Amino acid sequence: MILALETSCDDTCAAVVTRAGEIRSNVVSSQAVHGRFGGVVPEWASRHHLENVNAIVDLALQQAGATLDDAELIAVTQGPGLVGALLIGVATAKGLAASRRLPLAAVDHLQGHVAANFLEEGFEPPFICLLASGGHTLIARVTDHRGYETLGQTLDDAAGEAFDKGARLLGLGYPGGPALSKLASEGDPTAFKFPTAARVAGLDFSFAGLKTALLYKVRDLGPEETARQAADLAASYEFAIVEALIMRVERALEAENEPRLAIGGGVAANRLLRERAAAIGVPVHVPEHALCTDNAAMIASAARWVEPQPFPDYLALDAYATRRAA
Ligand code: ATP
Ligand code: FE
Repeated sequence: MILALETSCDDTCAAVVTRAGEIRSNVVSSQAVHGRFGGVVPEWASRHHLENVNAIVDLALQQAGATLDDAELIAVTQGPGLVGALLIGVATAKGLAASRRLPLAAVDHLQGHVAANFLEEGFEPPFICLLASGGHTLIARVTDHRGYETLGQTLDDAAGEAFDKGARLLGLGYPGGPALSKLASEGDPTAFKFPTAARVAGLDFSFAGLKTALLYKVRDLGPEETARQAADLAASYEFAIVEALIMRVERALEAENEPRLAIGGGVAANRLLRERAAAIGVPVHVPEHALCTDNAAMIASAARWVEPQPFPDYLALDAYATRRAA
């Protein structure tokens, strides 16, 4: 069994997963405190991880009906993410592994989002993968379980960031994606026309213009009209984000002559994106909701194809903040 930890952002996560990709437990402890500030406060995220990580690991083992003695591999997110937050997970994983002289697998967070697709019944490469999360948005070609090749990426904001910033402009809470999507379900997606950066060539994305367009629209309408038309604004804004994503996905499927699609990252939890992806007409795999947003089961999944480091080599392991070239 693999015991995995994930602390790259604000959620403290631990999971127990078998070598075959069966999830025995998958615990996520969210930090409600960041909602009050409309975003993640890095220092508080680290403190929350420090206070909770041991209890979350214990809970994951307990829910799996296991103890540390049953673990054959410890896996941990090494990056990208908030360095202070990542280091709590890395230090904890080192301690757990060293106490039993277990090997340790250092996992890339984005590969984790891809590998969420390999869990349970699983979706096998090759496929085109849309990764859309709070910090990243890219289209990749996945030819094996170990990594991916980036075909296109966002030139500015991530799709999840666009959801979060749009939600903030509409006075919704943090994280904004689920709240904006909920409001959008009551609105008319054709009420307003927002840009999709269709002219950005190839497989790259741009969401900065969209966010600015909403900002100007909200300013023009004024607070009262914005509140009255909030559902239509949300629906039109969500429509533009999803349209921008689907447009590149279709381009990629065609350009790469690859008729299979997987989606990963928190935005994959979005209902409209799932519907639109399913309507493309190729086999599509989207992990279940809890495996799309940050979790440790996806880290355990990716760890199955990572070269593990033996004791004591990993004691020098460090975290990294930004995406490594892939
Ligand atoms: P990264 O993976 O790039 O480091 P992250 O880990 O913070 O970033 P995830 O947890 O993968 O991001 O995804 C969180 C993002 O997903 C947030 O921006 C959130 O608004 C968005 N999100 C979650 N659920 C939905 C939804 N139903 N619709 C749209 N967006 C959503
Ligand atoms: Fe993530």
